[in-house]
Amino acid sequence: MTLIKSKKYAQVAFPLTSFQNFTYSIPGDLINQIKIGSCVKASIRRKERIGFVVQITDRPYFKGKIIDLNGSLEKDLSIPDDLWLTIKWISYYYFCSIGKVIKAAIPLSFKNEIRSKEILYIKITQLGLENIEILSKKSTIQKKILILLSKKKDYIRLSELKIISSSIYSICRKLSQMKYVVIIKKNEDFNKHRNFYEFDKKHIELNLDQKKVYQKITDNFKYNKFSVSYIHGVTGSGKTEVYIKLTENILTKNKTVIILVPEIALTSQISMRFKSFFGNKIATWHSRLTASEKFNTWKEIKRGVYSVIIGARSALFTPMKDLGLIIIDEEHDQSFKQDRVTPYYHARNTALMRAKFAGIPIVMGSATPSMEMYHQKITKNITWTKIKTRYANASFPEIKIVDMMAQMKKSEDFNSYLSVELRDAIKNCLNRNEQVILMLNQRGFSKVQQCSSCGEIINCKNCSVSLKFHKKINKLVCHYCDFKTNILQLCRFCNSSEMQFLGTGTQRVEEDLLSVFPGLNILRMDIDSVNSVENSHHSIIKKFENREAEILLGTQMIAKGLDFPNVTLVGILNADVGLFMPDYRASERTFQLIYQVIGRSGRHQKSGKALIQTFNPNEISIVSAANQNLKSFYNIMLAERNELFYPPFSRLSRFVCLGSDKTKVKEKIYFIYDLLRKNKDFKILGPSIAPIEKINNLWRYHILIKYDLDKPHALHRNFSNQISSILNENSGKIKVQLDVDPLTII
Ligand code: ADP
Ligand code: ZN
Ligand code: ZN
Repeated sequence: MTLIKSKKYAQVAFPLTSFQNFTYSIPGDLINQIKIGSCVKASIRRKERIGFVVQITDRPYFKGKIIDLNGSLEKDLSIPDDLWLTIKWISYYYFCSIGKVIKAAIPLSFKNEIRSKEILYIKITQLGLENIEILSKKSTIQKKILILLSKKKDYIRLSELKIISSSIYSICRKLSQMKYVVIIKKNEDFNKHRNFYEFDKKHIELNLDQKKVYQKITDNFKYNKFSVSYIHGVTGSGKTEVYIKLTENILTKNKTVIILVPEIALTSQISMRFKSFFGNKIATWHSRLTASEKFNTWKEIKRGVYSVIIGARSALFTPMKDLGLIIIDEEHDQSFKQDRVTPYYHARNTALMRAKFAGIPIVMGSATPSMEMYHQKITKNITWTKIKTRYANASFPEIKIVDMMAQMKKSEDFNSYLSVELRDAIKNCLNRNEQVILMLNQRGFSKVQQCSSCGEIINCKNCSVSLKFHKKINKLVCHYCDFKTNILQLCRFCNSSEMQFLGTGTQRVEEDLLSVFPGLNILRMDIDSVNSVENSHHSIIKKFENREAEILLGTQMIAKGLDFPNVTLVGILNADVGLFMPDYRASERTFQLIYQVIGRSGRHQKSGKALIQTFNPNEISIVSAANQNLKSFYNIMLAERNELFYPPFSRLSRFVCLGSDKTKVKEKIYFIYDLLRKNKDFKILGPSIAPIEKINNLWRYHILIKYDLDKPHALHRNFSNQISSILNENSGKIKVQLDVDPLTII
């Protein structure tokens, strides 16, 4: 008698956009090798692609002709169980196809060539150096390249020059033919540490407060299962040191750690502190890595080369083996939510799920916790620890609110971001050879029109954004919907004729600072400045650390995590930005931002000062941040949220419909509304036009759905099929977005 082995079938998801998976039969020789999460090769319409096994069944779900899988890929590529469950959870919870989630989570440039790429590096030659000047007008780009290379002594990646020109490869080839540059090919490992700068290695001895926190949290570790701990430590209390010690604790058990930090700006300084401690056991992970860097790091992770990964939100998806701990620094930070492309996942919530699936502890920390986590402290699902004092008894900065309205009324040469007080404080600080951080939460060089007597800023009539003055056409223009209007002679609110222009933007401030303090060295850090070759985040930070400049001027990028011993003055130039956004989180954000920026001042021996310039000196978020009165502010906010049934007291989801035909967009949102309103679990706000009505000529309508905390699946269980088909419909040119737990509702 012969035993007939039964056939098995694999459902395979590809990193494509569609919701569906494809069915293949598993060839006999692969049966033992293929599991859920395995990376396989299979054909779709005769083209071989790479996908992941989602499910294995005894019977095929597909009725048509079923073909065999072509093969399985190196073990290096398959996904560990806890990560796989996390991916599935994202797909379910955020209504996104598995394929799309895989695409977002796994860095495989899934063409066919899955092998590490060689990378081109370039360096200037002596001949090149000698000939820079000779290259004249005709070849400005060549000249630019050589000038830039002449500043770097070592090889740099050729791709970094892309900023100069889009046809950089052919230009460099020409330069190399002229022997002005050398181009070499190297694989990934070469110059691996280019992202890092040197850091003093130091031994860490926790102080008493830190030790207590460490004790309490490691008590949780003993159980070897899922647990949530929080370090609510004031700015400068040394949370990073505690994270390092906690990490060390896990490593001694031969397990690995993932550390999430908000943004790249933060990653370089913090990862250096980790790096100096964990050496080559640690790797960084963020969006600036190239596809092949990611791919190689991924493979190294699978091979167990690293025990610690530190990075931005997507580091959560690294396939760490024997994961023993997840740490989330600056837990409250908005950048943990991915909100530009699907899946719109929140890395904190997703990390909680991964920790749950892996059965491991998760530790979060912040000086300004999110309302969600703070509320959990009260509901007691969490080990909540506190550090109330700064490390080494550093004192908190002396904080002062500067009432800009009053300044405007009394001073002749009023400058809306450099009050007399701030100028004096800067002068004093410079006299003591200390450094200043100034934050302006807006970039660019633009002007808005404002009424001097009531303070009203002229907004777009369609959008909740201020209109920007464009000199060329002499009009006010909306940067979201392109609405244009003439400059106003009279205020629309108080009819005053005292209309003036206010400049905003870091470039503008830089110029003004230079006119007040000629010869000052200012480093600017905003999206514009960090995108150039010479000024990456870490080079700016390093320069400031080396005291090559007296002032660091930047957008909210500089608000968090940074630690400079010599900074004793922080100025918040315009605390009001964002305050009046039609968003229930506006106050919370303003508070967190101000509180955090203040925290950059006087973190070490030298005592610090902070000035908050505002047109709304009585606004509760500003006053509370200035008084560092977190508890009472949070309680007020929570009471308000409770009353209005907003998170963390309810669940919130948001549908947005977009399209150029306003009527059709409206019809679509009403269609969704009609579908959902029958369900008694939902409280629906809207449909209404979104606060920013139109972006890029697409009209935006939205509804907000609120539902009970204890009905997390109200939307998922009852409507999952309808919603999937609405989200995937391609007809009618109306796009529908569903944001589960949205962070912004504008
Ligand atoms: P936080 O992240 O809580 O705002 P940091 O971790 O940046 O604070 O710590 C503030 C400063 O104090 C840092 O320069 C840090 O190196 C130093 N520090 C904190 N704890 C210790 C410690 N136990 N030993 C030595 N230095 C410490
Ligand atoms: Zn007015
Ligand atoms: Zn507009």
